[in-house]
Amino acid sequence: MKFIPVNEPVLDGNEKKYLNECIDTGWISSEGKFVDRLESEFAAKVNRKYGIAVCNGSAALEAAIIAIEIKPGDEVILPAFTIISCASAIVRAGGIPVPIDCRLDDKNIDCTLIESYITPKTKAIIAVHIYGLPCDMDSIENIARKHNLKIIEDAAQMHGQTYKGKPCGSFGDVSCFSFYPNKLVTSGEGGIVLTDCEETAERLKSLRNLCFNTERRFKHYDLGWNFRMSNLQAAVGTAQLERLNEFVKIKRKNGNLYQDLLADCDKITLPMKANENAENIYWVFDIVLKDNAGMNAEKAMNLMKNHGIGSRPFFYPMHLQPVFINMGLFYNMNLPNSEYIAEYGFYLPSGLALKEEEIIYTVEKLKEILK
Ligand SMILES: *Cc1c(COP(=O)(O)O)cnc(C)c1O
Repeated sequence: MKFIPVNEPVLDGNEKKYLNECIDTGWISSEGKFVDRLESEFAAKVNRKYGIAVCNGSAALEAAIIAIEIKPGDEVILPAFTIISCASAIVRAGGIPVPIDCRLDDKNIDCTLIESYITPKTKAIIAVHIYGLPCDMDSIENIARKHNLKIIEDAAQMHGQTYKGKPCGSFGDVSCFSFYPNKLVTSGEGGIVLTDCEETAERLKSLRNLCFNTERRFKHYDLGWNFRMSNLQAAVGTAQLERLNEFVKIKRKNGNLYQDLLADCDKITLPMKANENAENIYWVFDIVLKDNAGMNAEKAMNLMKNHGIGSRPFFYPMHLQPVFINMGLFYNMNLPNSEYIAEYGFYLPSGLALKEEEIIYTVEKLKEILK
């Protein structure tokens, strides 16, 4: 068996055709019809009015934080168990990230803890859906309404997923997606910010494009970034989006196969098949080693690698990030669930190109190393 990578995308739809169209017509920059098409088709898919394509998912979060007007000194609540991009967007805006521990079952933010962290400086919540199951948007919306907070929904892992029947990405003041190659829709690199508010959409378009102003180009009243997505990226993204429903089915099929084959393994905790909000979409197949496994994730991942199987550790919790501790943030914070799963959790090969025999082989070797 050749090496099984943790992720391999599927690119055998219209990707090549659309890319050729860009090259044949000369439209390779951010000006081009595929950018508009991806924006409107993606927005329609998640019931949003406006989509603003950007160069990656982290940029989407950075622009979103500014668009909802997070200012220096503002506190923003986020899960401790997430990617650095959520926290760095807050810090770069001068805000203060306030990490909250996760639930052990679905690994999402524990909403019962949020209110105890709210202060007069709290301005927003970043709601992140982790690994395949949506977080509790009802609770987050209730808390936000009660305390007058904005919501950014980070649905970067949730293309095609729903929350109580409504599309993930349709919640909050703005929502963000990534189109990195391990996501359910990829454009190579890419991302998008979505909103229903026209004014916010205009602000995001301006921020994405260096805040050029219309009255006199190269004269600026505000600072933005060059976060533009190219037509080449959008061409790939557009072709991918056409296959989203099919991709969701593949993820669920692979996830269910892992579930069946690993059901008798008493040394790991498997991901939940569903939580109260949705069936798992298995963006990745995430497992947590139990005490009787006698090893942590790092050890297990090394042993898997010796068998030619790629895997990835879980997120490293925000409150333990050296970069933030060195800034004087999160002194001596203790969030036991996030710390526990970060030490003992990792995910198995989960890409869309994964074959059934590769899943069978992966499970066989995992059981062998845990024996
Ligand atoms: C992937 C991801 C991002 C960042 O997206 P990039 O395109 O890699 O910058 C942000 N948030 C979450 C939850 C992600 O999974």
